[in-house]
Amino acid sequence: MSSIAVKSDFLDPEISAASRERIASLQLENLRETLKHCYKNNIFYKKRIDDSGLDPDRIKDLSEIEKLPFTSKEDLRRNYPFGLFCTPLSEVVRVHSSSGTTGNPTVVGYTGQDLDMWAHVLGRIMYDVGVRRDDIVQVSHGFGMFTGGFGFQFAAEKLGALVVPISGGNTERQLKIMSDFKSTVLCCTPSYTLHMAEVGEKLGIDFAKLHLRFGFLGAEPWTEPMRREIERRMHMIALNSYGLSEVIGPGVSCECLARSGLHINDDHFLTEIIDPETGKTLPAGTKGELVFTSLTKKAFPVLRYRTKDISYIYEDDCACGKTFIKMARPLGRSDDMLIIRGVNVFPSQIEEVLMKVEDLEPHYLIVLTKENYMDKIEVWVEVSEGVFHEKLMDLEAFEKSIESKLYSAIGIHIKVSLKEPRTIARSEGKAQRVLDKRQERN
Ligand code: ADP
Ligand code: ZN
Repeated sequence: MSSIAVKSDFLDPEISAASRERIASLQLENLRETLKHCYKNNIFYKKRIDDSGLDPDRIKDLSEIEKLPFTSKEDLRRNYPFGLFCTPLSEVVRVHSSSGTTGNPTVVGYTGQDLDMWAHVLGRIMYDVGVRRDDIVQVSHGFGMFTGGFGFQFAAEKLGALVVPISGGNTERQLKIMSDFKSTVLCCTPSYTLHMAEVGEKLGIDFAKLHLRFGFLGAEPWTEPMRREIERRMHMIALNSYGLSEVIGPGVSCECLARSGLHINDDHFLTEIIDPETGKTLPAGTKGELVFTSLTKKAFPVLRYRTKDISYIYEDDCACGKTFIKMARPLGRSDDMLIIRGVNVFPSQIEEVLMKVEDLEPHYLIVLTKENYMDKIEVWVEVSEGVFHEKLMDLEAFEKSIESKLYSAIGIHIKVSLKEPRTIARSEGKAQRVLDKRQERN
């Protein structure tokens, strides 16, 4: 059997709890296979490997991968749609594409074996936290070109659970099904989960009486206070799930029940952290951009793919027993980083502050404008029901107190504008947190 073959059982203790040395040797073996596969089957990668002087058969250490240049989203776009595939199209059985949050979509492909691997690594994550055959998994991610829906569908199905492929949207129906079918697991974005909580509460649904056990929530940045809010309102354990279509989709990494970082599926994805400015590899524990190399994919392998996602990686002695390395909750993408008067700000840092203020709702929008050629940042945030009218007299004082909290946490003045409940648009997928009006003419 080739080393690229994937086992199909869900308990992989001999891998997920193996020593780091064992995992590194497996990674090295599969890295060689992947490089040979790319070299043989794709002209773009062949040239890159030739230019780097790397001989796949002679690689002795994982760090030698640093000789290879990075693959960027631009490389994917330039080779649109199938130029970076490494198998003939006759072997590709599915394509997906990124949701195009930051530009033109990029296309990724899977062979049957790739799909098996994907279902396996994501199913394994779900199994490890306790999802079993008798669970009812409601998949509220979009189905279609986005990887979220199908990713969870096949993983949960492979695990033997009953899957409800409801997709995103139609919130009242989501809630009816959640209640009637007694869904125990929810796969969704955190922002849409909160929207479900809000609509459900309005309809008089008592989430404590529903059957939700776990939420696998991701596809967008979110914060620890947001998790507490979701857990309190939905009565389930909310786990942070991370992935991107270029690497596979959901299943790249996810939290275990220890909820202290996301274990990366280390035997399939080699992770590096780089300085986004210089491209230099950074040591574990240092914040930078995540870079992934797939180790077992056939149709669309990636070599040193720059994600633009900001995080850091580390090893720890996790209570769950897994030895897979961890990544910290992603702060956001470097593209989403706002530079306001020289200070770098991620929307998630603003969220972190807002979510800790009592009487605010977890719905906000960051609005950027230009005034006298200067960037101005303002955040609109909803106050809780009742508070708006109750506090009408001193809304301004309330705004000022939030502004000073933001100032002490972030170091710049951000104007706060309190809004009435339910006036900021809700998301049924990935939330749009920033409205950039700087280019608009007045
Ligand atoms: P697009 O790049 O068009 O949004 P994808 O649908 O593949 O395409 O989305 C992947 C991206 O979503 C990741 O690169 C990351 O920026 C974001 N993302 C996914 N999961 C998380 C998460 N748990 N936390 C923060 N960001 C996430
Ligand atoms: Zn763990």
